[in-house]
Amino acid sequence: LAGLVAPLLGERPPELADPDAFRRFLRRSVWRAMLKGGSTMQSLLRVLPEAIGDRLDVEFESPLLKGALAFDATLGGAEGPYAPGTSFRAILREATRLQGQGACLPAGGMGALADALAAAIVASGGEIRLDTEVSRFLVEEGKATGIVLSSGVEIRAPLVLSAISPSVTMLELAGARHVETGDIHELRNFSPRGTAAKINLALDRLPQFTGLAPELHGARLLIAPSLAELDETSLAAQNGDLPLEPVMELLLPSVADPSLAPEGQHVISIIVHNIPHEMEGGWETHREALVQRVIRTLGGYAPEIADAMIAGEILTPHDIERKYGLAGGDWHQGDIRLDRLLVSRPAPGYSRYRTPLPGLWLCGAGSHPGGGVTGLPGWVAAGAALERGNT
Ligand SMILES: Cc1cc2nc3c(=O)[nH]c(=O)nc-3n(C[C@H](O)[C@H](O)[C@H](O)COP(=O)(O)OP(=O)(O)OC[C@H]3O[C@@H](n4cnc5c(N)ncnc54)[C@H](O)[C@@H]3O)c2cc1C
Repeated sequence: LAGLVAPLLGERPPELADPDAFRRFLRRSVWRAMLKGGSTMQSLLRVLPEAIGDRLDVEFESPLLKGALAFDATLGGAEGPYAPGTSFRAILREATRLQGQGACLPAGGMGALADALAAAIVASGGEIRLDTEVSRFLVEEGKATGIVLSSGVEIRAPLVLSAISPSVTMLELAGARHVETGDIHELRNFSPRGTAAKINLALDRLPQFTGLAPELHGARLLIAPSLAELDETSLAAQNGDLPLEPVMELLLPSVADPSLAPEGQHVISIIVHNIPHEMEGGWETHREALVQRVIRTLGGYAPEIADAMIAGEILTPHDIERKYGLAGGDWHQGDIRLDRLLVSRPAPGYSRYRTPLPGLWLCGAGSHPGGGVTGLPGWVAAGAALERGNT
C-alpha cells in the first residue's frame, strides 16, 4: 500500500478546478493500484479510514510489536492509536521511507545537514540572513512583491516562498484581508499544536539497557510497551495531563558519531510523544515533573541512567516554537490527518502551494506531503513556483 502512496508524495496534488487534470490523476492512481493486483485497491479502501490499533489487533499478538508500530503511526500527531484514519499514517510513514532512503542520521548530527544546505545555497549565489524576522509581506496591486523585515528593511522579489506555517503566512504576514472568509476559518482550524517534547541528556558513560545487545546502542530505541500505554498517554495529553509512564523515542547519536561528545561520554536525544500542548497554569511549573517521569520510566530499562546524567535540557512545544520558530512546536505545522492531505492540505484552495496572492507560495511542512526532514514540500513547491511565476 505504501508503494501506491509513495509516488504521490513527490507530486503536486491535482487541480480540483480542472476536471481533466483531476480525471487524469484518478486514472493514474487507479492504474497503479490495478498493476499491483486486484485486491490492493480493496485493501487500501478498507485500511484508509481504519484505526491503526484496530488493524494491529487483527494482524499481531505481541504487545511490543503493536506498540512500536502504533508509536510510529501516531508520532508527531495528536491522535491516539484508536483514532480513525491512523492506519493511513502508518502507510504514509512507510511511503516516505520508500521515497527517500529511510530514517538516517547525518554524520555530525542534524546540524551537519543544515550546514550542507546552507553551503549549497551560498554556492548558488544565495544569501542567508539568520535571526532576521519577517514582519509582513509586501503586497502591491494584488501581488506579493517582497518582504518587510521587523527592522523595517524591505526586500523586493518576483517570487516569495514561505516555509512558515500556512496560518501564520496567510493570516499574519500576508494579512487576513487577502484571504477569503471561508479560507480564514480553514486556516485557523489548521493551527499548529505540537504534542511532542524533546529532552537532551549528557551522560558520563554509555548507558546499559537491560537485554539490549551492545551493537544496538546506535539504533533507534522505542519505549512504547503496548497499544494500551499509547492510548492512555494520548488520552492524558488530550485532557491536559502529563503521562504517568511516558512513551518515547531514544537516539544515542554519539554512538555512531563520537565527535558529538567528549571521549567516553554520550548524548541521548529523546522525543517524548503524547504530551499536552498546553498545561494548566503554563508549562513552567510542569517541566521538571515531565523530566522526572521520563527519567523514572527510562530507569526501568537503563537502571544507571540517573547516575550517568551530567546535564540535560527539555524543550516543550512552546520552547520549540520560541527557540526554533516551528509554529506551535508542531511537527507538521498543522495536524497530518486523512482529511488534511493532498488536495486538502493545508486548505482546499492552497493545496498546490499557490496562494490567492500571485507571487506568494507555500513551501513548508504545512503543505503536501507534510513534515519531517524530507525536503519534499519545498522541492515540489519550488517546481510549481518556477513554472508558474507570479501570475
Ligand atoms: C520534537 C520534534 C522532533 C522531531 N523529530 C524529527 C525527526 O527525528 N525526524 C524528522 O524528519 N522530523 C522531525 N521533526 C519534524 C521536523 O522538525 C519538521 O517537520 C520540519 O522542521 C519542518 O520543516 P519546515 O522547513 O517545513 O518548517 P520549519 O522547520 O518550521 O521552518 C520554518 C522556519 O521559518 C522560520 N520563521 C518562522 N517565522 C518567521 C518569521 N516571521 N520570519 C523569519 N523566519 C521565520 C523559523 O524560525 C523556521 O526556521 C520533529 C519535530 C519536533 C517538534
